[in-house]
Amino acid sequence: MVWVLLTAAILATAVLSQRSMSRLTDSREAVAHSLLVDRSLRDMMSQMLDAETGQRGFLLTGRAPYLQPYYTALTQMRQSRAALGSALSQDSAALGLLDVLDKAIATKLRDLDHTVSLKSEGRSDEAVELILADTGNQTMIAVREALHALEAEQVHRKNKQQADDEREIRNNYLILGVSILINLLLLVGLVQRFRNATTQGDAAQQVMDERNVELSRLLAAAAARNEQVQLLSELSRFLQSCVGMDEAVGLLKQHLPSLMSAANGALYLMVVEQNQLRRAFIWGGKSYVEIFEPGDCWAARLGQAFRQPFQTGSASCAHLQSEHPSEHDNIHCLPLRAHGELLGMLVLEAEVASDQGDNLEIEGSRRFALEQVGLSIGNLKLRESLRQASMRDALTGLYNRRFFDESSQREVMRAVREQAKGDYAGLAMMMIDIDHFKLFNDQHGHEVGDQVLREVALVLQGQTRGSDVAARYGGEEFTIVLADITAALALERAQQVCQEVEKLVLHPSGKDVGTVTVSIGLSHFPAHGSTVETLLSAADKALYEAKNAGRNRVVVAA
Ligand code: GH3
Ligand code: MG
Ligand code: MG
Repeated sequence: MVWVLLTAAILATAVLSQRSMSRLTDSREAVAHSLLVDRSLRDMMSQMLDAETGQRGFLLTGRAPYLQPYYTALTQMRQSRAALGSALSQDSAALGLLDVLDKAIATKLRDLDHTVSLKSEGRSDEAVELILADTGNQTMIAVREALHALEAEQVHRKNKQQADDEREIRNNYLILGVSILINLLLLVGLVQRFRNATTQGDAAQQVMDERNVELSRLLAAAAARNEQVQLLSELSRFLQSCVGMDEAVGLLKQHLPSLMSAANGALYLMVVEQNQLRRAFIWGGKSYVEIFEPGDCWAARLGQAFRQPFQTGSASCAHLQSEHPSEHDNIHCLPLRAHGELLGMLVLEAEVASDQGDNLEIEGSRRFALEQVGLSIGNLKLRESLRQASMRDALTGLYNRRFFDESSQREVMRAVREQAKGDYAGLAMMMIDIDHFKLFNDQHGHEVGDQVLREVALVLQGQTRGSDVAARYGGEEFTIVLADITAALALERAQQVCQEVEKLVLHPSGKDVGTVTVSIGLSHFPAHGSTVETLLSAADKALYEAKNAGRNRVVVAA
């Protein structure tokens, strides 16, 4: 009877461990889904703004090229709407809000299209009158409100989902703890029964002694396993809430050594861009190389845990040979993986080799811990990369328009506060536009145009400090916001940007495409305004003058 109960309790422990793992995977998918919806909503807002910017540009100048961003934004908006629709198709609450959004967008687009048609037919006065009537602003507010309502609904849904997940995981670990406790009690019961039986004769005595030893060993292993599960549950919960990799590394440094039951070791994390494993931390007294390539480790090549042979030779890992030249005493390399991807490598070294039974036990619990840690780190990396993607422009890697809109508001507000305190140099805004960029596209093709955009973006990145924000404003236009800088210094920096771009030597696919130049309009807070809008518009006017004055120059706002 006791044996049946014991087996049932052990099975229950295994099933619960599995359930906690699959809940972690579900929660990762929920995070990815909500980030996708969030991104589509934000994309739609910035595409709507792009469309309006294009329409305004066309109305102001009457130049057809300004309609290009307008039509591009319409196409992108249809794609974003389709992505949003399929992401929300299962969410009945969101479908109603999506209807409201569709209506608001349709009204706004009708409004934009009407003014563009009027202008195209030469009826500029009527178009301007429509703009002055302020309906454009009203319809944009309606779109913004519909987007915000959807966003709020999604935030609500995400928070609820997250709370449910956390509760479920916590409950699982609680039940797990209880079932391990039951295991222990049953084992104690068994030990007691065997003890009683020992009075039945000397012959039986020896057998009982052996069983007692075996049971004590099982008891100790179950206790150790219990402690490990508790540690792991705590670590997983913290890793789930980490905001960045640095924080996660700090937690792992604290918990991994005891989870892995090893006196010495090192954790390496994969740097995908360089295809290298870089040391994150070590513990114990031994030293380990700072960087190695996955090809230098048998565990990475075989895709499974690898124990070094006692004597160094061709069958031991190359990354261990400089620090551990002659003999390896019980060194293991354990790959950290999630969803089939190599995320890192754990190198472990036990001080003394334990017996075979212990080793099997320890290896089993290490494997379990590694799977959990791998899943948590995989989730964290996914969250980080989605966050990066939502604020960067895909072509140039600079910040995108949306990030610029948000961060410039923040920077200008900070500048206003700092200035009120006194002793603040000011804030500069550069509006940068590539000269005759259309020619590059027309003469050498779109690919070369894109290459030019990337090269110019690299120069801008090189010319900014950590606190500056360099962004792609749209098409071939860029902005840089420089905080805490005098007007004179900002002018110097803008001129330097002009000179550095002119120095670019471009040879995409072997052919010379000539010189690239940019024109820059520069405005400065507080002289030219104290809001993002006024500073941008001053910089934009200065840019227009720079173009008229012959391009390849900086003009400071009047
Ligand atoms: P100006 O000196 O007056 O600024 O002349 P320009 O030719 O640079 O100005 P215009 O605004 O007429 O042309 C901008 C062109 O940029 C039009 C559009 O086809 C192109 N463009 C916008 N976005 C991209 C892009 O992502 N890639 C490429 N290759 N071209 C783009
Ligand atoms: Mg332009
Ligand atoms: Mg241009």
